[in-house]
Amino acid sequence: MIKFLDNKLFRYLSVFLFLNSSILPVKSSSALAAWEIKTNGVLELRTKSNTNLKAYFQKANQISGDRFWVDFPGELKNPRTIKGNGPIKEIRLGKPNKGKTRLVIEFKEETYLKPLTWRMVGLDANRWRIKLFDPKYTFKKISEGQVVKRIRNIRKNQKLLNNKKSDYEYLKLPDVKQNKFSIVIDPGHGGLDPGAIGIGGIRETDIVLEVSKIVKNLLSDKGVKVRLTRKNEVDLDLAPRVSFANNEDADIFVSIHANASRGKRRDINGLETFYYKGWKGRLLAKNIQKQILKVSPGSPDRGVKQGRFYVIKNTSMPAVLVEIGFLTGRLDARRLEKATHRKRLAYAIAKGILEYLYKIG
Ligand SMILES: [Zn+2]
Repeated sequence: MIKFLDNKLFRYLSVFLFLNSSILPVKSSSALAAWEIKTNGVLELRTKSNTNLKAYFQKANQISGDRFWVDFPGELKNPRTIKGNGPIKEIRLGKPNKGKTRLVIEFKEETYLKPLTWRMVGLDANRWRIKLFDPKYTFKKISEGQVVKRIRNIRKNQKLLNNKKSDYEYLKLPDVKQNKFSIVIDPGHGGLDPGAIGIGGIRETDIVLEVSKIVKNLLSDKGVKVRLTRKNEVDLDLAPRVSFANNEDADIFVSIHANASRGKRRDINGLETFYYKGWKGRLLAKNIQKQILKVSPGSPDRGVKQGRFYVIKNTSMPAVLVEIGFLTGRLDARRLEKATHRKRLAYAIAKGILEYLYKIG
């Protein structure tokens, strides 16, 4: 894209950049499953789950009119052009390069568009929506495939049942040796330091305290001794958190946080877990990261990383710092404000910890 940026004729708008978890191999089929432009000017897409989409807008030039396009991973089988109507001149499906699919919507010259206000919204792991033009234009809908999958009732119920089953799979926590392990959970921030402030004023300190308390209860039920560095809204410095854990002679230390992106970018979402050093810290981080991702479908995996945060650097036992999502991210914030999701995250963290304890015996 760089080479175009110098050219003033072109203006790209990265409408939305989402889920970067899966990059499909070149040979795979197109991740675009269905699309529909509705009479009210809304484009809806159905893709493979967790697809990485990129959307662009380009002003008209000598060759073509205003264009909006979306790139999908996976190669399109049959490039084709579909005649438009109303404000849309035509729709083209092509492969801009090997292993890619591009859906281009070209508008008629007189169409009034406001691309700077456009936002591509992820409805769930495989559906997307963007409003392209006002309903004032007469337009007959154009579509290929079914954007909303219709399933016959019996199969639908079956599917719901299956979903339910997998939804609650996280509730099964592994057993470990009773009264053998002692751990310290550290809810980040507190008191005068609210940590990150997210969409709608959602506060990191509240979220992580609640999640930490649930983790404590879940682990206590499994016969693990758990101490929290703070139990309420107190301002607690980093050094006492560390000395508390070191004095407890805890087996592991888990600091729980939620993220904020610089500039509060709503398109930045995802989960990540840090450790400072050592294979045990890394193993613990990997186990937790794996579980929290499972209960956060569509949220990017930002990985297990080495970090030099004070609390994990200075604790004497294997220590991790887990970031359970971006309070400033559209996808994560919407979830983190729900009690059910916070509970799921707590289960996931507890599960990751228990799996680690089981492995190290
Ligand atoms: Zn934090």
